[in-house]
Amino acid sequence: MIVLDGGGRVLHWNAWLARRAGVEFEQASGRTLREIFGRALDNSLEHAVAQALDHGMSSVLSPRLHVPPMPLYRDARDRADGRRMHQLTSVKAMGLERAARQCVVQVMDMTASVVRERELVAQAQALRETTEELRSAEARVRHLAFHDALTGLPNRALFHDRLERQCEQARRQKGRFAVMIVDLDRFKSVNDSLGHTAGDELIRTMAERLQGCLRGSDTAARLGGDEFAVLQTDLADVAGAEVLAGKIATALCGPVVLAGATIQPGASIGVSIFGVDTEDPKVLVNHADRAMYHAKREARGGWRLYSPSLEAAPAHREALERGLRRALRDRHLAVHYQPQVSLRSHRLLALEALVRWMPPDGAVIYPGDFVPMAEETGLITELGDFVLDEVCRACHDWDSGVQRMPGVAVNLSPKQFRDPHLVDKLLRAQKSLGGRDGCRLELELTEGVLVEDVDRAAAILDVLSGHGISLVIDDFGAGYSSLGYLRRFPVRKLKIDKSFIQELRQDCNDAVIANAVIGLGHSLGHIVIAEGVETANQADLLKALGCDGVQGYFFGRPMPIGDVRRMAAGVSPLFRDPADRRSA
Ligand code: C2E
Ligand code: MG
Ligand code: MG
Repeated sequence: MIVLDGGGRVLHWNAWLARRAGVEFEQASGRTLREIFGRALDNSLEHAVAQALDHGMSSVLSPRLHVPPMPLYRDARDRADGRRMHQLTSVKAMGLERAARQCVVQVMDMTASVVRERELVAQAQALRETTEELRSAEARVRHLAFHDALTGLPNRALFHDRLERQCEQARRQKGRFAVMIVDLDRFKSVNDSLGHTAGDELIRTMAERLQGCLRGSDTAARLGGDEFAVLQTDLADVAGAEVLAGKIATALCGPVVLAGATIQPGASIGVSIFGVDTEDPKVLVNHADRAMYHAKREARGGWRLYSPSLEAAPAHREALERGLRRALRDRHLAVHYQPQVSLRSHRLLALEALVRWMPPDGAVIYPGDFVPMAEETGLITELGDFVLDEVCRACHDWDSGVQRMPGVAVNLSPKQFRDPHLVDKLLRAQKSLGGRDGCRLELELTEGVLVEDVDRAAAILDVLSGHGISLVIDDFGAGYSSLGYLRRFPVRKLKIDKSFIQELRQDCNDAVIANAVIGLGHSLGHIVIAEGVETANQADLLKALGCDGVQGYFFGRPMPIGDVRRMAAGVSPLFRDPADRRSA
């Protein structure tokens, strides 16, 4: 503490200051602060002293701790130990009369407080950083809890949360939105044949494509496995949902290269609309699910809008199942044969056996309408046995005077291929057809059946081909087209799927694909047949591309065996040059 007289000269100088400033009372007494400290004296302190003595005004010179405190003199160091001092200096006027006025300058060493404050500031900063870190960790954990790790899409929990919010909002605003359930087709086969890494890759690719179809306000979620869901918001009308469903179906069926194999993925989509079908979130999802199953059953790679008529389907299905059982018992089924014709010689190469259901009191029912149900219910085994029996009978009845019975191809669906008695049944049929030298038996399998269990399929087919039964890959190009597996099997024929033939023109992509399949088939030593040939132009183009044979309405619809025989006898123009037929 310093006491100054009216002229600013030192009256009192305490021992604390003497020690810290290194100036004893004796040296300071009677001198002004400027005389003691010289240029080191802080100007504002001198000013404050003058204000106190002249005008009786007191002041605190370093009222705030966290700005560098105002020192009594610059470079204030504790002379005792040399450390930097943080001082709080107050100047107090004493006495009302100017003449009798004195002034007290008080200096406090705030160093400890300042250091403490600095520490506190540093601690607060660290705390802030930790909190920040915690917050982002928490956000990450929250993200993981509500998102799918593989695709980064919202998961089932978040989807249901958004769905419920969307329902509330739409109810308030009398709006509409769509719920879609998207289920990949044949995903299990990819997983089984190409491995889980490839399966994961496919899921990720599909998720990206799905997301790419949506606007920012829509939600795509992964519900689990190969099942996704979509919330399409701000729907003006039902057509808007149909457009999006079509767009998604198209986007998801583009080819994907996985583990070196090109696969043709696909998805089935079910759609339900808030405000049309229901306003209950659970029911909305159920409806979309039901519609998805219908889409799956009808045509793979398609979509279906929910309608209450779908509810009637189980009853209809039961009736269908009962009907087929009865038809099998009463033999209200028939096998028709469609010719495969050589493009070079125009002769009959083989026949494909196609089953028909012939209700005595109604129109013919085609396999597309009952084979999937027969697959699901297991009736396909009995149906397959029926077809084999019929084929054997037709061969026996064939009048060898006309022409040797050509090979007959039967179709095998996936479940039939899993039948443990399959090999026995086929070998028995082959024997009854006359063994190796008789009528040749061919098996038509789709790629999906083969890649489901490659090793087992290869073992079975090796046995069968050893007995002269030949393997035909049906609908080639519509499924996996994984070239690797083709070499594993004793394939004799490839049948190009009719979807590539139907739009066939000189300059289109389908011609490029057909050309590539023909080249591939030939280089592997297979016979290549085109399915679904309906026009002379298609036949001509296929011939130019080097295709071996054709099957389709242009050469003959599936027909009873008697009609085939008449054709083979030359009564029909079937085996004339297609060019003649066109002019005829
Ligand atoms: P798929 O094996 O690909 O048989 C060819 C299908 O294409 C047949 O339909 C045939 O009638 C049709 N088709 C032939 N030429 C043309 C054409 O020029 N244009 C068009 N648009 N279509 C043509 P279908 O008879 O209705 O058989 C459908 C599918 O049902 C068959 O496809 C086959 O996968 C399955 N299927 C038929 N019979 C049997 C059977 O006995 N057992 C099993 N498991 N499946 C069968
Ligand atoms: Mg077939
Ligand atoms: Mg086919």
